[in-house]
Amino acid sequence: MRPPSRLAQSLDEVVGLAASRHEWRARLADEWQATERFLKPRGNIVPTIPCPSPGGEGCPRHVVRLGPDQFRAVCANTPRECDTLDLAFADVEVLALDTRRLATEIASALEIDLDYRERRGVIQIGRHLIAAGAGFPVALVLGSAAWRPALHLHNFGDAPGVILLSSLSSLDPDVGNQLRLRGNRIHVLDEVVGDDYGRLVPLAPPGILFHDLRDRYAATEPVRPPWRLPAGSTWEKLKFDLISSEEINVSTAGQSQKLRPEHLGLRNEKTGGVTEGWVFLRTVIAMRGSLGFSNIEPRYVKQLQLLNRALREGMGMAETPIMKVGRGEYETRFVSICSLSPAELAEISGRPNSPGTKKFGQGSRQHRGPTKGG
Ligand SMILES: [Zn+2]
Repeated sequence: MRPPSRLAQSLDEVVGLAASRHEWRARLADEWQATERFLKPRGNIVPTIPCPSPGGEGCPRHVVRLGPDQFRAVCANTPRECDTLDLAFADVEVLALDTRRLATEIASALEIDLDYRERRGVIQIGRHLIAAGAGFPVALVLGSAAWRPALHLHNFGDAPGVILLSSLSSLDPDVGNQLRLRGNRIHVLDEVVGDDYGRLVPLAPPGILFHDLRDRYAATEPVRPPWRLPAGSTWEKLKFDLISSEEINVSTAGQSQKLRPEHLGLRNEKTGGVTEGWVFLRTVIAMRGSLGFSNIEPRYVKQLQLLNRALREGMGMAETPIMKVGRGEYETRFVSICSLSPAELAEISGRPNSPGTKKFGQGSRQHRGPTKGG
């Protein structure tokens, strides 16, 4: 197993990532067999074949067609310095790098969920997944920055990820530094993958190669509940039981799961406490699913919208769980019960600085179980 280093060097030197088979074979030498599969015929022939000398006025050698499968590459220098080549169609045929095939094999080697897109010289390979739904983008930049239009940062997207280069010269150093400052990791391709009998393989397990980004994302991405709701679940079939300030027992169809703020993205990352959204949820459950405001402020309406969205996305449900049923009055579609004693509840909600609770009015109605038909 070895890194395809001649391929990387060739990509830096071959303008447009396309050349004759004759040229690729000469450049790739002993790597030709292992890397040929990444080259795809374009159906046309090259006009010239490079000369071995640095090049006089008549260089490079011009390709002349002598017959259907008979070509000659001739240097026009006088006196003639470069050998004349007699070639077949296969030698002068243009082969271009098959970037999709390369990206697909890199994705397979580095455990990337393939989502191939190419835009302005940047290939988006896909996302390296660290947990269900959580992952970071992996991009690929090939060839020399010198013959490519300047790459702009916005090409790489907003979320920090991994940028793979065919060589260090693939990226302008200033752009590279800015990308690193924004949390991106930059790797040269032959540091992370090698060729193993015609197949790209990781040079280290992807979990180790990408360990720092994995740790970073694992700490910030919301952790989804480890089970999915049974097929056919509706909000009306779910029972939410508040069992502590940061735990709700959600049960349905004989299954139960503890729902915590981080499962819904309702953990305040700076303080480690919970967001106002979680306080709303806790409160509406403590009020047995019915919450009334004597004078609702716009910011609470906004908080309820955010909470509804967090519940829909976090639990994979399409419908809105907390419904407006009247002016300043809201009800949960799920069954709300509270296993906390009145004293425990007071302990949670009674603190003077506890956000939200001061403004909440008394539940306007007694709990009537889940709302049926809205
Ligand atoms: Zn020449």
